[in-house]
Amino acid sequence: MQETRDLRAPFAPIDGTIPAELRALPTPCYVLDESALIHNAQILGELAQRTGCRVLLAQKAFSNYDCYPFFEPYLAGTEASGLYEARLGAEEMPNKEVHVFCAGYREDEFAELLTYADHIVFNSPSQLKRFGEMAKRAGKSIGLRINPEYSTQEGHAIYDPCAPGSRMGTTRAQFDIAVSQCPALLDLLDGLHFHTLCEQNSDDLETTLTAVEKTFGDILPRMKWVNFGGGHHITKSEYDIERLERCIRYAQKQWDVTVYLEPGEAWALNAGYLLTHVLDTMQNGETQIAILDASAACHMPDVLEMPYRPPLLGAGEPKELPYTVRLGGPTCLSGDVVGEYSFQHPLKTGDLLAFGDMAIYTTCKNNTFNGMPLPNIYLRKADGTCEQLTDFGYSDFKERLGRR
Ligand SMILES: *Cc1c(COP(=O)(O)O)cnc(C)c1O
Repeated sequence: MQETRDLRAPFAPIDGTIPAELRALPTPCYVLDESALIHNAQILGELAQRTGCRVLLAQKAFSNYDCYPFFEPYLAGTEASGLYEARLGAEEMPNKEVHVFCAGYREDEFAELLTYADHIVFNSPSQLKRFGEMAKRAGKSIGLRINPEYSTQEGHAIYDPCAPGSRMGTTRAQFDIAVSQCPALLDLLDGLHFHTLCEQNSDDLETTLTAVEKTFGDILPRMKWVNFGGGHHITKSEYDIERLERCIRYAQKQWDVTVYLEPGEAWALNAGYLLTHVLDTMQNGETQIAILDASAACHMPDVLEMPYRPPLLGAGEPKELPYTVRLGGPTCLSGDVVGEYSFQHPLKTGDLLAFGDMAIYTTCKNNTFNGMPLPNIYLRKADGTCEQLTDFGYSDFKERLGRR
């Protein structure tokens, strides 16, 4: 079953119709929305200001660095999943902190990583043992990702770092074994990091924090900081920010730590569109079908991976409006289907559609499977004009496959 993402956008700049500047763009293309990005950033910036917590941008969700200047007044730094994202953060926000978490650091990259990173978070005691001294000597702040073994999500096992047998983070049992064998490990640590949420509200953070205190409460007073990870749906309209603030203040007071948050989605939630034209319409039995020039598999991979059904401007739930149509991509994958939507009128070749919430986990995660072109990325500025940020073509497909 596909689950529909929240359509009640906290901020809906397009407001029901697609403006003329966007209608003129070649499709498929992504449009990033400056006003919506700044709207999100202000919510996160005000949270930081009220509580004294430090909010990072997890670049794996959104790393269109042309937009970093919109975030810069509101964030403390960037969070990276490895060498390249750390380098991007260091290059594109040189005056901000660079934090890195990676499940496995490499010997041949670590020295370079140290030139970019301020905080390095290790996934296991053995990685801490292997690289911790070197990072400490380089003046870095050192953290360990813990696994509080407390699941708050049902259904999305691939997004649950606390699932049984998970490789994400160190359990208390493993921590105790490592520290008993090598007590000096504890002295290396400046902070603890947990990341267990995905698109969740602060009630789940609150119960997770209780689990963190239960499992690692004796270690926390020795730390300078605690990183609450990402997955906080802070910029969504139903999010309970006051409860989040209580969690932050509790940690600050209880353990005298600096609190970091590193959301990805929340920065760019509902801040982008994927524009696509209908290439063809057809029918199979009772099912009406439209083939789009955008692909779920290539251009919105989380639609299939998560899975979820993205909002589509002006369309309803299946059967809500008179004409229900299954929307799919032009690739050869049978399952390259975005979902079923209903419309006031039948769809026809040449119709323009706009999927919403397409700034996150898209431009940084798409692919050229089937030789599909990468959609160009445009910025819709606050004054309504559009700027083209990329110029993708055949070479972006070919150069990933060989050198000639
Ligand atoms: C994915 C991830 C984030 C960001 O998660 P969002 O769901 O995009 O907020 C932050 N920290 C870590 C360690 C992650 O793996």
